[in-house]
Amino acid sequence: MTQNNLNVFEEHESEVRSYVRGFPTVFHKAKGYKMWDLDNKEYIDFFSGAGALNYGHNDENMKKKLLEYIQEDGITHSLDMASKAKGEFLEKFHEIILKPRNLDYKVMFPGPTGANSVESALKIARKVTGRTNVVSFTKGFHGMTIGALSVTGNAFKRAGAGVPLNNATPMPYDNFMEDTDQSIKYIERMLDDSGSGMDKPAAFILETVQGEGGLNVARMEWLQEIEKICRKHDILLIVDDIQAGVGRTGTFFSFEPAGITPDIVCLSKSIGGNGSPLALTLIRPDYDRFAPGEHNGTFRGNNFAFVAAAEALNYWKDDRLEKNVQDKSKRIQEFLDDLIEKHPNMKGTHRGRGFMQGIASEVEGFSDRVTDRCFTHGLIMETAGPSDEVFKLFPPITIDDEGLEKGLAIIEKAVTEVVREKDLVTT
Ligand SMILES: *Cc1c(COP(=O)(O)O)cnc(C)c1O
Repeated sequence: MTQNNLNVFEEHESEVRSYVRGFPTVFHKAKGYKMWDLDNKEYIDFFSGAGALNYGHNDENMKKKLLEYIQEDGITHSLDMASKAKGEFLEKFHEIILKPRNLDYKVMFPGPTGANSVESALKIARKVTGRTNVVSFTKGFHGMTIGALSVTGNAFKRAGAGVPLNNATPMPYDNFMEDTDQSIKYIERMLDDSGSGMDKPAAFILETVQGEGGLNVARMEWLQEIEKICRKHDILLIVDDIQAGVGRTGTFFSFEPAGITPDIVCLSKSIGGNGSPLALTLIRPDYDRFAPGEHNGTFRGNNFAFVAAAEALNYWKDDRLEKNVQDKSKRIQEFLDDLIEKHPNMKGTHRGRGFMQGIASEVEGFSDRVTDRCFTHGLIMETAGPSDEVFKLFPPITIDDEGLEKGLAIIEKAVTEVVREKDLVTT
């Protein structure tokens, strides 16, 4: 391919393709927070592969390790046989991530995608408790397979299943009800009263910050209350940290500041380091009860991903990266608050925390227009929420000041242009 046009995709690729429609160009190179298309136009990446590229593109150290590994004929595919690359990843994950956080989990490799991890987590919870029902939360997103969709909120995505989605009960997430106290009270009442009609669930599954659902943040107190309810009723707590984990909110796991200990944690997206497909299901040891092979998958042992993932864990040996995210998160929040104040016509509300923040606009189509404008001006950013009402800033967590400021300037320019668009209906 030398010409930058989309003919081949339009002709041969299924209608289901989506991001190519929002970012209609052919990309061919990327480094750190930058991407280039075939015309050599440069883009700042405030999308980060929807959270799969937290460390940016083509990290030098990960690249070096991968090139060495390939050069040495390191094993590529090995199902779940023991490989050196996997052993090294497991060792480092234990030493650098779990041990210092006092977390005791068995690591399961459920297959390479986030949905694989969610499916395995649901299976474990049902197997351990012998119950079928699972409590999910409004606006939650957990993936596109049938089990994962059954605990996902979005009506459009659910309808894609084509079969009834069963064995799940949706409950109000924190801030779903106007009165924030209502969520916990409602959930408690439904569980406590044997006349509520709800089957006792095997598990609660939740995100601490809802990524696809529109950057809705659960308060730490809410997460603590949820954990208490789970303990009281002997229900497993599954935290889906596929998008919010691996540093996105400023700590390795998004639930760390709440001080809770989930029974199962789903990880994927950035755990593979450089965008390599990898997923983990972290299981409390006494719930590690699958028989050998009871859940499997051909691509559980992606050794390239293990190599990059093990290298990526070096970022967590000290607190420099964490501090980078925490400091720059404040800058992002200030920028967004300021933008909301400057442009009341946007009818915006701040959403999210850490490096997953954005603005929800009540003006129909506003956020889509902003991301379109950003693309024109050389910035990749997506929308989130059930009506795409949120524009979502997702820079790599390794970004420097210069990259961040350049990106924010493009967003400011785009918003300023969109609020002036004559056909924008703001009433
Ligand atoms: C992306 C995502 C998933 C699904 O991961 P896939 O790799 O797309 O299957 C599940 N849960 C959350 C919170 C996600 O953001």
